[in-house]
Amino acid sequence: MSKVRYWQKDIETIGRRALEELQLKRLRSSFGRLYRHVPSFREKCRAAGVSPAAINSLRDIAHIPFTTSDDLRAGYPAGLLAVDRNRAIRLHTSSGTTGKPKAIFFSKRDIAQAAELVARCLTMTGTGSGDVLQNMMTYGLFTGALMMHYGAEKVGALVIPAGPGNTERQIALMQDFGTTAVHILPSYALYLATFMQQHGMDPKKDLSLKRAYMGAEPYSEKTRLKIEKLFGIDVYNCYGLTEMNGPGVAFECLEKNGLHLWEDNFIVEIVDPVTGQQLPEGAEGELVLTSLCREAMPVMRYRTRDITRILAGKCPCGRTHRRISRILGRSDDMIIVRGVNIFPQQIEQVLMGIRGVAQNYQIVLESLDELTIRVEIARDMFDGNIEHLLSLKSEIVEKIRSAVLVKPIVELLEPGTLPVTEGKAKRVIDKRTI
Ligand code: ADP
Ligand code: ZN
Repeated sequence: MSKVRYWQKDIETIGRRALEELQLKRLRSSFGRLYRHVPSFREKCRAAGVSPAAINSLRDIAHIPFTTSDDLRAGYPAGLLAVDRNRAIRLHTSSGTTGKPKAIFFSKRDIAQAAELVARCLTMTGTGSGDVLQNMMTYGLFTGALMMHYGAEKVGALVIPAGPGNTERQIALMQDFGTTAVHILPSYALYLATFMQQHGMDPKKDLSLKRAYMGAEPYSEKTRLKIEKLFGIDVYNCYGLTEMNGPGVAFECLEKNGLHLWEDNFIVEIVDPVTGQQLPEGAEGELVLTSLCREAMPVMRYRTRDITRILAGKCPCGRTHRRISRILGRSDDMIIVRGVNIFPQQIEQVLMGIRGVAQNYQIVLESLDELTIRVEIARDMFDGNIEHLLSLKSEIVEKIRSAVLVKPIVELLEPGTLPVTEGKAKRVIDKRTI
């Protein structure tokens, strides 16, 4: 374990009891400030019969009402600010998929703290001074790119604020400046590899890349392995959301076995997505987060809609902050076909494990009982031998059927047929709602 490096060793390896004391102290302070300064929140608490005086242990958090994305939307554009608006120095919005955005404000201290958490994550995975981090996420109202940028500067890496898209320029920058780390969407990493191969380059040999930070959308372990192999790098999963600072909420260490969630900054709960009841440790359910250090806009018990579970046991890296599993999907991403609940990631996991399947795919829903999967396949599969195509197709059909229990219709496509988005990939086309 000589490779283990810490950014803030004391807090990263803090004993559980001291950590829980710190959490309680911070919870009481955040809850109290929110209660005093945000009338709509106070009313909700009064209706639920809870006031700051009722929070005497961490367990009491269960009495505090949830905050949903609708609550945050309803507060737009004022935001649920717990400080005077003049104290806010940055606005981000989180779009979600429909309706009004959510206005999320940051104070100077909040920005510094967000960067601090990203710095922990980068140090933990080996990025520091001497590294060149090319940030291929969208700069702008999203937190993704900017917070990573600040954290990477903090650890002393040279940051290239490339933003997304313009693949030729991305490759030129990577080659000209010897990029060692990228912050990238999984869907774009797959596209980048295809693009390089189509242009006679080898993503493994023609770059100096060592690692990639990948998050913002769910992806499977198979996809991680595929990308690691294509580029010859380590891929680390990073999780975050605008409501909780952005990236750096939870992050994989060198073990790549679950994401450490920084519990000195957030309280983690897993609840039943339907009933909202807390679930026992280890059960799969919806992640609920409470911010502990956010100054401008603390958020209590936020329903993230992200499905995960808390992993048991200690991590060999020595960090005491508990780990969550990779995000399985959003509770609102789940598709139902023939009454069966399916997360797109289950389909992706199958596809990325099949030889001959290329990087892009799309799930199309035309009716309640039909699941169509359009899959790009490697160019060398189109070798004129129809047998090869037919056997690949039936392999895909069979493997998906056994994974999700619904027999899909599979369409094989040439690479480059499906649209590539600059932002988060749109994998599911649900024609049933149009
Ligand atoms: P939105 O997409 O709603 O505008 P954000 O840009 O803040 O909001 O993105 C946060 C969401 O992105 C998370 O709630 C989660 O659904 C998804 N996400 C972020 N990181 C990951 C990750 N590593 N794995 C899976 N999903 C992720
Ligand atoms: Zn660890």
